[in-house]
Amino acid sequence: MNPTAEPTPVTAPITAISHWIDGKPAVGSGRLAPVYNPSLGRVVREVGLATKAEVDLALASAARAFPAWSQHSALRRARVMFRFKELLERDAKRIARVISEEHGKTLDDALGEVTRGIEVVEFACGAPQLLKGEFSDSVGRGVDSYSLRQPLGVVAGVTPFNFPAMVPMWMFPIALVCGNCFVLKPSERDPSAALLLAGLLSEAGLPAGVFNVVQGDKQAVDALLDHPQVAALSFVGSTPVARYIQGRAVANGKRVQALGGAKNHMVVMPDADLGAATEALIGAAYGSAGERCMAVSVAVAVGDQIADALIERLKQRLAQLRIGAADAPDVEMGPLVTAAHLARVREYIDIGAREGARLVLDGRNHSAAAPGGGFFLGPSLFDAVRPEMRIYREEIFGPVLAVVRVSDYRAAVELINAHEFANGSAIFTQSGAIARAFAVDVEVGMVGVNVPIPVPMAFHSFGGWRNSLFGDHHAYGAEGFRFYTRLKTVTQRWPEADAVRAEFVMPTMK
Ligand code: NAD
Repeated sequence: MNPTAEPTPVTAPITAISHWIDGKPAVGSGRLAPVYNPSLGRVVREVGLATKAEVDLALASAARAFPAWSQHSALRRARVMFRFKELLERDAKRIARVISEEHGKTLDDALGEVTRGIEVVEFACGAPQLLKGEFSDSVGRGVDSYSLRQPLGVVAGVTPFNFPAMVPMWMFPIALVCGNCFVLKPSERDPSAALLLAGLLSEAGLPAGVFNVVQGDKQAVDALLDHPQVAALSFVGSTPVARYIQGRAVANGKRVQALGGAKNHMVVMPDADLGAATEALIGAAYGSAGERCMAVSVAVAVGDQIADALIERLKQRLAQLRIGAADAPDVEMGPLVTAAHLARVREYIDIGAREGARLVLDGRNHSAAAPGGGFFLGPSLFDAVRPEMRIYREEIFGPVLAVVRVSDYRAAVELINAHEFANGSAIFTQSGAIARAFAVDVEVGMVGVNVPIPVPMAFHSFGGWRNSLFGDHHAYGAEGFRFYTRLKTVTQRWPEADAVRAEFVMPTMK
């Protein structure tokens, strides 16, 4: 195939996973990659990986659409988002089914992801209010000052496999209502949800070219990073790639926010409600098979007494964990996303055992993990994990929980503050004083008090510290509006006709 040829429209976006360029699906002309159903362990479709020429086409379409879209009133742009929100609600189950099929998370979990995405769309509908600038009248005699927030132009988003609908919706609803045009590069492992979102935006009345999808891998990402048309890039994914994205985007003069990996701790204080803490830990560590950037992967037990009791309860509850195909009824945990990722997580269990951590539960021996079928692994639990171990330091991104024992609250905080990653941390306690101290003392971006996964609501903002985020802005909320606009401040005077004289000193308002 000629790589520079115009992509051909197709009619069935879900079975032939294509790009979405200039308001319609477009079959790729580049390489193909397999897309798996992890519950079956089988390839179910293929996705075209965009060439640089296809990325250029998407960017050109976005650039053409920008002048008209950015000149619409914020209210008019918000009305498109209102309609998009209604369509998302109408099709939420359909989107969830596609996510669940390609990712392997349970249907209910996938529906939860869509709901969290819809919440950002709802927030974006407030654009006319959120884009209001500031005004100061009479900053000098006959002089007023006001500020404008203007769109950047064409912006891009590169997103991970673990939230194929929600993470893109952290980005584009806000970028679009601010007046930007958007090119999304979703994960090649579960690429179909992005096309459904593109179709709904179009149905909601979004003009062609304002939102585009290029499927692909590093080649497409590099094309976005190097293209002068891209004014800003939002990235969510692993830390090594986030660091690379930030470096290359900044070198090319782009605004960038790059959210990376995590190792989230949950402190269990001696006075915690143990039943509630155990249930919270199970859901946060093993939900979505641990493939969440806000998954709790380390439990910090304060004192041996609470640690022993916690391990006992976790063992009992994990023995009953219902593992199965993502679309089967009553399943609590589905498979991992790919065979390669499964092998990587299994390798970490080997490493932890070799490093001398106590393997209380070995997910490799679980009946669900028998060879054949899908990419399944049972839950694993390590006790007596020490900070120098690789299973403590590195992100595993699977159903593996490490318990670290510490002597007191101060040691728990020091442990968390010394970790490379600093996305979220939680504390379970009945003491208001300890909870309040924790919120102040802990050096991470998001904190939970008796809440294991403190993902901020759409009207706050999401982001970690240290190696969990590169850039200055967190995602969505007010930070999203700041990221996707640039500030302009106007100082105006309407003088009497004869009142203007040259001034040679720094202007001051007398
Ligand atoms: P990933 O870094 O492998 O991929 C993310 C995106 O980058 C994908 O679109 C992929 O195609 C692209 N990519 C991969 N390698 C690249 C390269 N060398 N150059 C350019 N682009 C590249 O991440 P993943 O495996 O899809 O997702 C899991 C990771 O994402 C975990 O580390 C998880 O913690 C992180 N994550 C973080 C957050 C957050 O908010 N901090 C949220 C979700 C996921």
